[in-house]
Amino acid sequence: VAGQRRNPQTDLGEEDYALRPRTLADMVGQREVYERIKIAVDAALMRSEPLGHVLLDGPPGLGKTTFATCIPRDLGVPLQIASGAALAAPKDLLPYLTNAEEGSVLFIDEIHRLPKAVEEFMYPAMEDFRIDITLGEGLSARTVNMNLRPFTMIGATTRSGLLSAPLRDRFPIREHLDFYSSDELQEIVRRNATKLRLPIDDDAAAKIACTSRGTPRIVNNRLRWVRDYATSRASGTATLPVTIEALKMLGVDDRGLDPQDRKYLTTLMRVFDGGPAGIEAIAHTINAALDTLTDEVEPFLLRSELVVRTPRGRKLTPLGYKHLGAPPPDKNPE
Ligand code: ADP
Repeated sequence: VAGQRRNPQTDLGEEDYALRPRTLADMVGQREVYERIKIAVDAALMRSEPLGHVLLDGPPGLGKTTFATCIPRDLGVPLQIASGAALAAPKDLLPYLTNAEEGSVLFIDEIHRLPKAVEEFMYPAMEDFRIDITLGEGLSARTVNMNLRPFTMIGATTRSGLLSAPLRDRFPIREHLDFYSSDELQEIVRRNATKLRLPIDDDAAAKIACTSRGTPRIVNNRLRWVRDYATSRASGTATLPVTIEALKMLGVDDRGLDPQDRKYLTTLMRVFDGGPAGIEAIAHTINAALDTLTDEVEPFLLRSELVVRTPRGRKLTPLGYKHLGAPPPDKNPE
């Protein structure tokens, strides 16, 4: 998802269009989601009908934008891109809706950030391809009804829990993207090393794959860094020792956690005695944005079972203590 970038040292920057898959067939992993979307796309093509609206949710960097850009390419239709955060009022959405060609795709990133008024304005647009526009104010106000050309809305969110039920229900296709396996990430490393013309050894590719927090975006960022490092400090080939050194310079540990991830864990352990601690308190203590922690940092820590969410807050697990090289609290001498 465009917008916020985390740790500049580990995520080295701008979106990489060169590495982004062009068509659904170029995408690696997410097989079940891929199959279902492929069937819906094929059926829409065969019936010459617009694809049903698609909602994609999951942590950042797992391929929501990639799906949203590949789907219209496979359908052979135009794509418009908008961001929920930038659509403050219904009038901001109006040009997108009226410009939408028949069968085209309107992608709304961070759809959970749409204000209520815009969301409600969207309901008839999504359901019946029509909008109600209010002209004038007060007693002279009147509502004009306008028909739209049938289009496909693709919404992406890191927080499907924040979407209202009426909005969620208007998407017939709802898919959750999960973290990628090391094998899948290794395949992405191999393909993208070729695109970047980086000679890379198999064990080095595996190393990057299993230390990229299950996330293609992180794979790509780390792969680029390894390439720079190999060019500057070695002969240009990403061997295992070169890759290990390069990752060490980014502060990436053997689970792939970066300094910010570890700061979260060590703060939970030291300052909050292992928890339970409220996420706001943790965010304040490490001076990080709450959204960054819940959307980007926590999903992988929870998935790795280093941390658990309890009704009273976040708690470090025995595995979390182990990762930090500390004994779990019950084994601590009092
Ligand atoms: P999101 O929108 O979920 O934050 P993106 O779609 O922007 O994530 O993905 C980040 C980057 O990861 C993309 O630029 C692309 O290069 C790569 N990527 C994502 N999903 C895949 C995939 N399934 N196969 C190959 N590369 C992928």
